[in-house]
Amino acid sequence: MQVDLDKVKDECGVFGIYAPNKDVARLTYFGLYALQHRGQESAGIATSNQNDIQLHKDMGLVTEVFSEDVLAKLKGSIAIGHVRYSTTGSSLLTNAQPLSFRYMRGMVALAHNGNLTNANELRDSLGATGSVFQSTTDSEVIVNLIARYGQNPIEDALMKCMIDIKGAYSLLVMTEDKLIGVRDPYGVRPLCIGKLDGGYIIASESCALDTVGAEFVRDIEPGEIVVIDNKGLRSIKNLCSSRQALCIFEFVYLARPDSNLDGINVVQTRRQFGRQLAKECPIDADIVIPVPDSGIAAAVGYAEETGIPFEEGLMKNRYVGRTFIQPSQEMRDLSVRLKLNPIKSVLEGKRVIMVDDSIVRGTTSKKIVEMLRKAGVKEVHMLVSSPPILHPCYYGIDTSARAELIAAQNDLEAIRQHISADSLHYLSLEGMLASMGKQPDCFCNACFSGKYPIEIPDFKHMGKYIMETEVKHG
Ligand code: AMP
Repeated sequence: MQVDLDKVKDECGVFGIYAPNKDVARLTYFGLYALQHRGQESAGIATSNQNDIQLHKDMGLVTEVFSEDVLAKLKGSIAIGHVRYSTTGSSLLTNAQPLSFRYMRGMVALAHNGNLTNANELRDSLGATGSVFQSTTDSEVIVNLIARYGQNPIEDALMKCMIDIKGAYSLLVMTEDKLIGVRDPYGVRPLCIGKLDGGYIIASESCALDTVGAEFVRDIEPGEIVVIDNKGLRSIKNLCSSRQALCIFEFVYLARPDSNLDGINVVQTRRQFGRQLAKECPIDADIVIPVPDSGIAAAVGYAEETGIPFEEGLMKNRYVGRTFIQPSQEMRDLSVRLKLNPIKSVLEGKRVIMVDDSIVRGTTSKKIVEMLRKAGVKEVHMLVSSPPILHPCYYGIDTSARAELIAAQNDLEAIRQHISADSLHYLSLEGMLASMGKQPDCFCNACFSGKYPIEIPDFKHMGKYIMETEVKHG
């Protein structure tokens, strides 16, 4: 089966809880609510009452998918939940998670954040020996592998599965009596453990622990399997590797500012990106404005470092979700105007520094610069608190296909002209890595550098492509 890798991407959030005597479905609902930024297309919760697994999932936001009645029916002592955003073509209910299935050892539910890089290969070989698939997600490949290794206890089946699968995965697996968290050997996607009155939680981001009043315990290590059951929590570290490659784009855009990922706070990191940007690109201007929300922390950092006043120049309508915005260019144009409105009294006659976290296709920045000019700015300097995105992500961030990445196809001056800014500056990769406060090789920065920590299937072809784009950007 041919699947275009450029198109297969999911941004997801997972939340799981093992807490007898608690309303696990409702707590999972609140946990997913806190992770809504990781996916707005579908949501689902599965619960286990130690005998059976119940599941409810649908397209839409968490608040749209779960009513009081639905939550009341989801009973049990263990639950896992999932929020998902996918790109064109795979926006289907059959691809919504958690996935649930019965195999020789009973019922299992699974929620996955990340992307496997060898899913097609595995799907082909599983299909050739009789496996059937209902969805187009790579997560279903994991389901099939678990079933295939069903003679073994679930922990051993998962270990075998980890040897087969390649790529990025933060997984939650729920059996009738266990909650299991698995992080891929590179720890590309985050996953952390919390404690709540004797029960345990495993979630994509620490903000979800805060929301349900749980205490942060620790991050799950790359390659670690954490099993929680009536005996407590135990850890299997047979497949832990020495190399970690946490996705740096989580800090740029995806994660919530109040989260800590592998011990690093997101908002402080973004602020540091802004300070670093100020050191690299000092510009003479009257005000610094962020593109809300993801540009706010970096704009604050830039303003702090330069002493140029920080102003709110763009008002965001926070009630515009992604649900009704189809991924077409026309709708993307409209969505910018729906979401953001310039504040003329702040902007008129000013030389403005506008800070955003990233440029992907260039749609947002082009539209905003146009709006700022209409609002009467004298100059607009676009500052981006991450380096140019030159390469697609194969590990679970929707950074769009290569052909759509404006920086992969154009040099700096051409992008500046496209967005009609007076000047355009990006944070350097070195500056970004220096801002992280950890060894640079702890992070995956493939979208900026083209250096993929985990092999991708068409790597030979990609290698040629990467060299060409690197030459272009000097
Ligand atoms: P674009 O308009 O395509 O250049 O996208 C850039 C804007 O989208 C910026 O304002 C970013 O904050 C935001 N952004 C960056 N990465 C993503 C992503 N993976 N999914 C959705 N929005 C993103």
